[in-house]
Amino acid sequence: MKKRNLTTKLLHTPFPVKDPHGSLNFPIYENVAFEADSAEELEAAFKGEKSRHIYSRITNPTVAYFESKIQHATDAFAVTALSSGMAAISNLVMALGKAGDNIITTRHLFGNTLSLFEHTLKPYELSARFTDLTDPQKVVEQIDSRTIAIFFETITNPQLEVADIKALSKIAREHNLVLVADTTLTPPSIFDAGKLGIDIEVLSSTKYISGGGTSVGGLIMDYGTFDWSTFDKARPLFEEHGPSAFNVLLRKQIFRNMGACLSPQSAYMQSLGLDTLDLRTERSTSNALEIAHYLEGHAAVKEVHYPGLKSSPFHKVAVQQFGEKPCSMLTFDLGSKKECYAFMNRLTLVRRSTNLQDNKTLIIHPYSTIFSEYTPDQIKAMGIKDTMIRLSVGIEDIEDLIEDFQQALR
Ligand code: PLP
Repeated sequence: MKKRNLTTKLLHTPFPVKDPHGSLNFPIYENVAFEADSAEELEAAFKGEKSRHIYSRITNPTVAYFESKIQHATDAFAVTALSSGMAAISNLVMALGKAGDNIITTRHLFGNTLSLFEHTLKPYELSARFTDLTDPQKVVEQIDSRTIAIFFETITNPQLEVADIKALSKIAREHNLVLVADTTLTPPSIFDAGKLGIDIEVLSSTKYISGGGTSVGGLIMDYGTFDWSTFDKARPLFEEHGPSAFNVLLRKQIFRNMGACLSPQSAYMQSLGLDTLDLRTERSTSNALEIAHYLEGHAAVKEVHYPGLKSSPFHKVAVQQFGEKPCSMLTFDLGSKKECYAFMNRLTLVRRSTNLQDNKTLIIHPYSTIFSEYTPDQIKAMGIKDTMIRLSVGIEDIEDLIEDFQQALR
């Protein structure tokens, strides 16, 4: 049978058991604990000899169904849903690393991820080495015997930088490093992470997947491509669990004990969000490309950054990896912070708010908000200017959006 496509697979992910009422949507199991038929069954469940739900911090049927939809649609080897994108990143990094290890990454990251690497993990002696991930030579120069992984964002927020994933994957293979990508800006409707050599994908499902800013969540997808028998922390589990070794480590030593589980209510909303993911990304990325062209042609706009524009230094690699409309976020520069604020305050349709990939178009001045805890020198190193505005383009009718920009720029 021909392989089905993403939306069909998402809509028709089978239930683990037939619903007694014939519900077409998997129900919300908003409860904590699950009863066994006998004391022996409960013992077997705790020992992992019988697969069943015990306690919702560990697994829950509604959350497991959400995970199975992702697995069915992406062919990932193992999927874990968590309470936020940051929970996904922090749980993953803690599962991979131990004191003395280092991870190669860049300062061009989402602000809280950078803060996790710079502040949260430092006292545990798990360090980050910052370099330019768009330059393979610079990546290689950072590798030493304690390097365990390369961590990058497929399209960086908000710099809109795009690294060559195949080049990073080649380096990772040659040095036996785990290649980890935060794909928040390019979810599975935009590209197939497993095919390009990414070993583990993390993303904030708060964004595209939730379906209009309904709920906070995160995902870890292990593509089963890394040989965990060669990885220090997973090796002791390999003999018993084989390729599931890392998933067992993640679930039993980190996720269960840190307690950042996704709520059943949020899993339900995100399952519904998945059904329309492709339709929404199609519309919001088309809108983003059109707005990027419009802003590029406007005399009041100094610069526009969008990897779908030919003027972007990352255009070629972005189009190769993610297609002509790589994402729905873009940034642009006006003359000064004062001009940015005046423009933002004149908008009547576009909302002044943080978050990405809501159905509504959102606008923010990153320098004075998301990055306000950093010094001017630190912000400069992150590639953020006070003349820059970030736009997360929604699914409104494009004529209405352009009209709002026209009147605000006039
Ligand atoms: N990764 C990226 C690229 C993000 O933009 C964000 C949030 O904006 C996160 C991770 C964190 O996601 P969450 O807010 O769901 O914790």
